[in-house]
Amino acid sequence: MPDFDVLVIGAGHAGVEAAWAAAQMGCRVGICTLSNDTVAGMPCNPAVGGTAKGHLVREIDALGGLMGLAIDATGIQFKLLNRSRGPAVWSPRAQADKRRYGGWVRSALEAVPGIEWLVGEVYGIRPNDQVWSLDIIHRTHDSSQKESVSARKVIVATGTFLNGLIHVGPETFPSGRYGEESSTALAESIRTIGFRMGRLLLVRLRKPHSQLERTMNPSFSAGGASRRPTTAA
Ligand SMILES: Cc1cc2nc3c(=O)[nH]c(=O)nc-3n(C[C@H](O)[C@H](O)[C@H](O)COP(=O)(O)OP(=O)(O)OC[C@H]3O[C@@H](n4cnc5c(N)ncnc54)[C@H](O)[C@@H]3O)c2cc1C
Repeated sequence: MPDFDVLVIGAGHAGVEAAWAAAQMGCRVGICTLSNDTVAGMPCNPAVGGTAKGHLVREIDALGGLMGLAIDATGIQFKLLNRSRGPAVWSPRAQADKRRYGGWVRSALEAVPGIEWLVGEVYGIRPNDQVWSLDIIHRTHDSSQKESVSARKVIVATGTFLNGLIHVGPETFPSGRYGEESSTALAESIRTIGFRMGRLLLVRLRKPHSQLERTMNPSFSAGGASRRPTTAA
């Protein structure tokens, strides 16, 4: 019998929802992450919702997912954007305390008995007679340990890490989220078993600090904040 019914690679926003959903369906779930400290990590603006994404969050909520519960528990500002325009573009958006958000999601998953955490890097994946075999390396400061596990189904939710690249001006370097290593061995392994891979380009433009300072409004917390009591953002 395989070790898991479902093994989820990645504990970002997609991976935690996948693990949560599979566990609610009674599956034995393994969830693998490069670090326990970055579960459901928000790499930049710690917002949940906004135009288009606000609707997605409500759909996840309606399906019994985690994101709406997590932002209700850890949100620090809830707003309906674009109210001066027509209802088609009204957009629910919440700002999270990003450390508490990730911690809350991790605790919620840790409380589910059917979920086992594997902290390490999946560097190999191959089909093996109706199940998938996965090679994982667990690293500490001074040692590393390899392990192989098996699962009936694998969900790859590695976000921007899979063969990830960051471009800063003329520089290009492999990276996952900024400051975290990209996942190149897994990408190569997935390619070897016959999957074609592509790349989505995320462009992030940063304003220089002086410009940011000019546009910052120090009285923002007294004005715009409005707290919604219950529903998801
Ligand atoms: C610089 C930047 C800024 C962004 N800004 C915003 C923003 O302002 N607002 C917004 O809504 N979205 C923003 N995004 C997009 C948003 O962060 C991503 O869409 C979202 O995090 C993707 O979630 P995910 O679950 O797919 O993957 P991620 O959050 O990237 O999580 C991937 C997970 O996979 C794990 N992993 C990767 N490889 C392996 C492996 N080989 N073995 C084990 N575990 C592995 C990682 O540890 C991590 O847990 C930004 C993204 C970036 C990179």
